[in-house]
Amino acid sequence: MASQARPLRMLFFPLMAPGHMLPALDMAKLFAARGAEVSIITTPANAAAAELSLAAHPSIRLLVLPFPSVAGTALPAGCENVSSLPSPDLESAFLSALSALEPSFDALLRSLLPDCVVTDMFLPWTCRAAERLGVPRLVFYGSNFFSQCAERSLRLHGTMESLPPDAASFVVPGLPHRIEMLAAQMRSYETSDPVFAELFRSMAEADAKTYGALMNSFYELEPDYVRYYRDVLRRRAWHVGPLSLCNKNAAEKSNRGTNASSHHHHRHEAYSKWLDARTPGSVVYVSFGSISFFSAAELREIALGLEASGRAFVWVVRNEHHEDWLPEGFEERNEKRGLIVRGWAPQILILNHASVGAFLTHCGWNSCLEGVAAGLPLVTWPLSADQFYNERLMVDVLGVGVAVGAKKYSMKPEERPVVAAEKIASAVGEVMGGGAEAEERRAKARELAAAAKRAVEEGGSSYKDVGSLIEELMAKRNAIAT
Ligand code: UDP
Repeated sequence: MASQARPLRMLFFPLMAPGHMLPALDMAKLFAARGAEVSIITTPANAAAAELSLAAHPSIRLLVLPFPSVAGTALPAGCENVSSLPSPDLESAFLSALSALEPSFDALLRSLLPDCVVTDMFLPWTCRAAERLGVPRLVFYGSNFFSQCAERSLRLHGTMESLPPDAASFVVPGLPHRIEMLAAQMRSYETSDPVFAELFRSMAEADAKTYGALMNSFYELEPDYVRYYRDVLRRRAWHVGPLSLCNKNAAEKSNRGTNASSHHHHRHEAYSKWLDARTPGSVVYVSFGSISFFSAAELREIALGLEASGRAFVWVVRNEHHEDWLPEGFEERNEKRGLIVRGWAPQILILNHASVGAFLTHCGWNSCLEGVAAGLPLVTWPLSADQFYNERLMVDVLGVGVAVGAKKYSMKPEERPVVAAEKIASAVGEVMGGGAEAEERRAKARELAAAAKRAVEEGGSSYKDVGSLIEELMAKRNAIAT
């Protein structure tokens, strides 16, 4: 009886990268708000940001595991987050170093014995301890139903393997919509980088033993793909998003992803003031997420493209090490019209400011969904990971995006062609301009934002899915106990 009344005990272990940790922290808050007893694992260098994010949620326990030793690897000491890697070349080494956390995760799991663990797709080894101890493991992909369906469908049909070597494009087989992609937009590192190849092999193996997936999405956004994933691919999944909407107050939105609130608060006030002085819907927000790298040539074209668009802009430039990456006199010429943010921006605050009218994004899933939840049309510029799928969802399926025309999958700037300023200016102009198509895009974006808000409210589709997962896991636990 006591066990039946006991709240669901959940343990989260997100990948240490903003695109995975931020939604996982939101997810932890979401389940805690629904009565679950929640703990979340991270490592020392990530603890301060997690603590700040959880400040208003004292019931959530943060558990800190020492980061594995990186001696003898190419990884710089103290670098415990994908966003602090000095080069994209180190990503596979970082991900593979994390598997050394297995013994301490195992010991923690043994001592806590939660009713379920939610671990990141890039931590497939967490599956072993969970299986040994009989704890259901849920996976967090950090992506959506559409891209999961597309990727799985390609694998099931062996599409890439059977593509003629000179094929420029292909249609993803079996999906509810006709989705055409370029062969060059597909990831190739599974075969070219042995560390990634091994990681992807163990991810697939872990997937087969996984209880189900938690998706940062909502039913009304991609109903055909929720059904396809569940009914055709026969996989279990719960849509619990948009997760960013659980950050309710300004402090939570402003601190998201930072570790020192007072310092950032000051800068955020300056951004708000700058945006307050603009007319509604007149500003393009430009950001490429937390881990992407650009060459000086690419950055110059972005600058020239934004200037040529004639629109006001907030452009977030991350981790900038190049010299002379801005065209001469750019900042002086655009002093009134543009704001360059160096480092980290309070993205969800900016996206939801009335002056912002569009989002030029690299199509990281969090960014796409945050743009949708803010009711904004998108200019899409995917680079790698699931971003090319996300572009197709935004442009072809939902009709809220215009593609800049990125043609090649690559985390490394030197491996992809530079997107010309004219293309950037033209896509920004199309999205920000007047005309029936642009109006329709804006109307669709507003409709989706309203649906997103309804999904997370009491009785909404995501709200209900959170509830049914909690019930299912409690029933499972109680059945074992009796
Ligand atoms: N983000 C932010 N400020 C920044 C850069 C990123 O708040 O300056 C947040 C953004 O809101 C999103 C996450 O970091 O929640 C990035 O995730 P996404 O999936 O968009 O891209 P990734 O960084 O994983 O490529």
